[in-house]
Amino acid sequence: MKKNIAILGSTGSIGTQALEVIEANPEIFSVAVLTAQENADLLIEQAVKFLPKEVVIGNEKHFDKVKSALSAYNIKVYSGIEALVSVVEMDDVDTVLTAMVGYAGLLPTIHAIKARKDIALANKETLVVAGELITGLAKQYGVNIYPVDSEHSAIFQCLVGEEANKIEKIILTASGGPFRGKDRAYLANVTKEQALKHPNWSMGAKITIDSATLMNKGLEVIEAKWLFDLEASQIDVIVHPQSIVHSLVQFEDGSIKAQMGLPDMKLPIQYALRYPARLKSAFPRFNFTDYPSLTFEKPDLDTFRNLAIAYEVLEKGGNTACIVNAANEIAVEAFLRDKIGFLEISDLIIESLAKMSYISAPTYSDYVQTNEATRRFASELIQVKV
Ligand code: NAD
Ligand code: MG
Repeated sequence: MKKNIAILGSTGSIGTQALEVIEANPEIFSVAVLTAQENADLLIEQAVKFLPKEVVIGNEKHFDKVKSALSAYNIKVYSGIEALVSVVEMDDVDTVLTAMVGYAGLLPTIHAIKARKDIALANKETLVVAGELITGLAKQYGVNIYPVDSEHSAIFQCLVGEEANKIEKIILTASGGPFRGKDRAYLANVTKEQALKHPNWSMGAKITIDSATLMNKGLEVIEAKWLFDLEASQIDVIVHPQSIVHSLVQFEDGSIKAQMGLPDMKLPIQYALRYPARLKSAFPRFNFTDYPSLTFEKPDLDTFRNLAIAYEVLEKGGNTACIVNAANEIAVEAFLRDKIGFLEISDLIIESLAKMSYISAPTYSDYVQTNEATRRFASELIQVKV
């Protein structure tokens, strides 16, 4: 029996790599659903090639184009936010790969869990915003969440066979991004072009900026808390510029297990889609003699404040990670439009955290309101600054 995959965000970096994995394994996977927000041309091309049952283009402006391009095929075409959210509920879907970017991942993931679909989770923002809600629902509906993020996949792989053993701590590795070793004076003047040049990974714009500010590692610390049920004190971050050791788990006997390999997201994607089996692949292999030294150093939390902020909200709980996520999304967007400087990304998050009201046990509608109110506040703050 083939596994039918719904890919939310099929035109992005994770989405296109997931389709490469599916294409390389046609006897194992088929595509049930493809969705994208803006890139109608690529979505059409993908639909013609993979023949999903349903396609959703988020922006309704492109609906007619997609609909007429696919009229000769047996593919249902929808557009708009409601379709994006409910398309995952289709009977034909086995696993939903959440590969869209940002807060927009939350609601479709909730719908997918309630429809009892397994989740291959790339959209880390979902767990950052509402980790307690999502992991609670997954338990309630008996749904598995398989991590796609390479660090979390590494930890997940290290935990196979260790179900009865307690985790003492995990160690998330970070490349350090393009500005590793730089100070605040340098960072004050960096451009988006510099920030978009990641040393080891080619990814979407938002996560690439998050990697440069270390917000990405902060979001991953929060993501790890929810995926592996850990306390903040059990989650360490270490900078490892070569991105070969993808992360590590330390057990109570002091033993540490690591998962390694050349940086390639196709590996964690296919592991999440086909767990517990490992699929044969032709990716380049890691060779120790090509890397005579793998290095590790402490992250600089004074310069890269977003990582410190993530630890702070992990302790505070409630809706604080939702506030950080929303402020960060607005700040990154503004940085990419040259509206604010690199260091102001953290300023904006800190000011938003100070301003927004704290809710200790948020409901779904509290998250919706917190997200909207924070985005409004952060956007107004940018207006005042420019
Ligand atoms: P991307 O920007 O390359 O692609 C985003 C996809 O989401 C596109 O298909 C786009 O059409 C769609 N999209 C954008 N806005 C949307 C909205 N409002 N509603 C619905 N769909 C929308 O992003 P990416 O780099 O592929 O990252 C996707 C997710 O995976 C992010 O949450 C990111 O943090 C996570 N992730 C990515 C990588 C990576 O290597 N790229 C690694 C780990 C985790
Ligand atoms: Mg990662």
